[in-house]
Amino acid sequence: MITLEKLCRKNIWDLAPYSSARNEYAGREARVFLDANENPYNQPYNRYPDPLQLEVKAVISKIKGVPEDCIFLGNGSDEAIDLPYRCFCNPGKDNVVAIEPTYGMYKVCADINDVEYRPVLLDETYQITADKLLAATDANTKIIWICSPNNPTGNSLHREEIIKVIEGFQGLVIVDEAYSDFSSQKSLRHELAKHPNLIVLNTMSKAWGCAAIRLGMAFASKEIISIFNKVKYPYNVNLLTQQQALEALKDPFEVDKWVKLLLEERRCMMDAFALLPICLKVYPSDANFFLAKMTDAPKIYNYLVDRGIIVRNRHRVQLCENCLRITIGTKSENSELIAALRQY
Ligand SMILES: *Cc1c(COP(=O)(O)O)cnc(C)c1O
Repeated sequence: MITLEKLCRKNIWDLAPYSSARNEYAGREARVFLDANENPYNQPYNRYPDPLQLEVKAVISKIKGVPEDCIFLGNGSDEAIDLPYRCFCNPGKDNVVAIEPTYGMYKVCADINDVEYRPVLLDETYQITADKLLAATDANTKIIWICSPNNPTGNSLHREEIIKVIEGFQGLVIVDEAYSDFSSQKSLRHELAKHPNLIVLNTMSKAWGCAAIRLGMAFASKEIISIFNKVKYPYNVNLLTQQQALEALKDPFEVDKWVKLLLEERRCMMDAFALLPICLKVYPSDANFFLAKMTDAPKIYNYLVDRGIIVRNRHRVQLCENCLRITIGTKSENSELIAALRQY
C-alpha cells in the first residue's frame, strides 16, 4: 500500500477539523455546561450528542471483535460509502474500480463526487477474478469496491480472490459486508491488522432489524478512521439513534434467532421457487434475499404489484436479465408471494 498521505486528498490531509465545544475539555469531569449555546431545558434532547459515539462503539467493539478506535459510525452505510470518496478521491481526476453487478450506492456516490467509476463484470457464476479487477486499476485508482455477500446476486465472493485483490492493490479495498450476519463465511474485519488498506462495512439495517435508525459502520485501521472522523459532520449520529442502537445491541441472541428463522424460510422459498414453472433458475444465496431468473421478470413484477406484493425487478441490471430479487419476509408474507406466483 502507498502511504495514507499519498492516498488522501491534500486538502483533507491538511484539514484542521472543526473543534466542537464538547471536544475541548475532553477527559476531565464536568458538571456545568455553558459552552455550546444549548438550552438548559428540555432534557435530554437539549444537549448535543457524543460526536464519537463512544458508548455505542464500546458495545459494537465487543460484539464485532474490533478495537474501538478502528470503528467509524455513520448515518447508515450510505455515509460510510460517501466518506471514502470525499477523503481520498480528487474530483475530476481519480477513479474507483468496482464489481458489477453490485449495490447501486457506490456508483451514485462516485457520480455525486465527480469520480470516474469503473465497473468490472463478474463471471457467469457471479464470482470475481482478482486479476481482472486489478487490471482495471491505474495510478489514479484510489478504491476498489467489493460487496460480499453481494447485492443483488446474493452469493459470497471467494475469500482467496478478495485477499488477492487486497494484497495486490496499492490503494484502498472496501468490502461491504452488509449481509455477513446471514453468511457462514468468516468476516474480513478480523484481518484488519494484516491489511492496512482494508475497510470493511457493516450495518444495523439488515440482520439487526434497524434500518429506520440509520446506523452504518466502517472497520479499518485507526489512521483511516481518524481521517473519516475529521471529515464527517460533527454530530453525524443523533442521540435517538445512539440510544436505540444501545437498546438493540443488548440482545444479540434475538438477532441470532431472526437470522436462523430467515435462513430456514430462505430454504423453503428457494425450494418453492425452483418448482415454479415460471422460474428458470434460483441462484445460491448467503443473504436474507435471493435472486431468481424468471420467464418474464417485468411482467411477473407488474402482476405482483397489482396484487400489492413488491419484489425487486433486476431485469435491467447486467447479468441479471429477467431476474427478480426476493427479500425473505415473515412466513405469511412469503406464503402470499408463493401463492400469487402459483396463480400466475
Ligand atoms: C442494504 C445494504 C446496505 C445498508 O445500507 P444502510 O445505509 O446502512 O441502510 C449497505 N450495503 C449493501 C450492499 C446493502 O445491500
